[in-house]
Parts: sequence; structure tokens; C-alpha cells
Amino acid sequence: MGNRTFAMIKPDATRNGHTGKILDRTIQAGFKVLGAKLIRMTKAQAEGFYAVHRERPFFEELTTFMSSGQTMVLALEKENAVAAWRETIGATNPAEADEGTIRKDFATSLGENAVHGADSDENANIEIGFWFTGSELISNQ
Ligand code: GDP
Repeated sequence: MGNRTFAMIKPDATRNGHTGKILDRTIQAGFKVLGAKLIRMTKAQAEGFYAVHRERPFFEELTTFMSSGQTMVLALEKENAVAAWRETIGATNPAEADEGTIRKDFATSLGENAVHGADSDENANIEIGFWFTGSELISNQ
């Protein structure tokens, strides 16, 4: 199983002052941060990143939201990282997220759901490559 995943702290969570608490949860859950930076994605970057959803009815709302403010992009390391991170963040819709998950505690709505997590090892690598160069990924060993 892959050991890396790609995560984001989305604009609703950065705007609401949850960045530090989400990072703390992330580290307490056993993830190592290999890369982290604060960005404001352009609309074009949001459309590229979420290209798989371009035919969906919420694509315009999603890409407008994701380009509306600060996002923290994260490359995370842990055994079985993709599944472990999705378990840590909870269901896409916070109303369906389990107790103790990040989305349960910090998400605002289905669209503004605080955090992102890659859904496969392949996509994790693609998404890390979308936002980080190789030299920006740093091991702490
Ligand atoms: P994820 O992998 O859990 O993030 O979920 P998806 O890949 O299905 O969707 C990507 C993102 O699109 C979600 O995290 C939401 O921010 C957003 N999204 C999904 N469904 C809806 C929807 O019905 N309405 C809106 N506004 N946004 C949605």
C-alpha cells in the first residue's frame, strides 16, 4: 500500500481559523508532513485540479469556492496513507461523517467541507505533483 497521500485544508477552514487545529489532528493521527504550503489557487488551477468533475452540476460552485481564498496544500506520509487519511477526514458530506472526524468537527456543508483527500495511490501521486516539486518534499529523518 502506498505511504503518501495528498490533502488540502480548504478555504472555508482556513477562513474560519481551523488551520492549526486541523494540522494538529493530522499530526496526532500519525501523519508526517512532507510538504506544506499556503496557496490561493486560481480559477484555472481549480478547474484543472478538479477536471474529473467538470461535467458535474456543482463544478462551477466548487471551482469558485476553491479559488475564493487560502488553501493549505499538504503531502502526507503514513502507512496506507490514502485510506488512513480518508478515515481521518470522514465522509464527503459532513452530515454523514463519523464522530471524531475532521469533517464532522470542522466542515460547513457538502461543498465547503474543510479538507480534501486523494482517493487512490495513483491520484495521490498526481495531486502531489500538481502542487509540489520534488525538492519541496522533505523527510524529517
Ligand atoms: P471527496 O473525494 O470526499 O472530496 O468527494 P468528491 O471527489 O466526490 O467531490 C469533490 C469535492 O466536490 C467535495 O469534497 C466537495 O467539496 C465538492 N462536492 C461534491 N459534491 C458536491 C455537491 O453536490 N455540491 C457542491 N457544491 N459541492 C460538492
